Amino acid sequence: MKYTKIKDNDVANGVGISMSLWTQGCPHRCEGCFNEETWDFNGGQEFTEENLKYILSNIDKHGVERNLAILGGEPLCPQNVEGVLELCREFKNMYPNKKIYIWSGYIFEEFSELQREILNYVDILVDGPFQLPNRNLSLTLRGSSNQRVIDVKKTLENKVLVLSSLNS
Ligand code: SF4
Repeated sequence: MKYTKIKDNDVANGVGISMSLWTQGCPHRCEGCFNEETWDFNGGQEFTEENLKYILSNIDKHGVERNLAILGGEPLCPQNVEGVLELCREFKNMYPNKKIYIWSGYIFEEFSELQREILNYVDILVDGPFQLPNRNLSLTLRGSSNQRVIDVKKTLENKVLVLSSLNS
């Protein structure tokens, strides 16, 4: 997995404060993308064991409670998906009560087996590519109205897609 940056305190992605990880590399190339510097698979840096340890041991740095947000780039593309799976698994094992938010340009119904495996550890998934004609800056956690804020836990329990109350 490659990443662009880790931000300790992020109030724009998730509810409350998140530690956010931007993965590097994106195959979707959405017109109007706000994050083009994350497209290049040759850019960024390798996500190392040290980075993993940093996230796990600093998530509540200075006594501030944080969730984990994973954005891109594309966290769930073949180049990044295994690293993201390991991160999510380790994070949830250590912090079962903290939330994991993931943004992906892939569509939930079309996820591969490996992408689906990650959902066992994720609380909120925002899915689908950014679509410029559907851009709406007033939406919570998403940039265009085709994207959906999915309550992953309820979706897995009910075996049918359940939108989060944040899908507003
Ligand atoms: S999926 Fe996200 S990062 Fe990738 S091109 Fe679309 S908006 Fe940009």
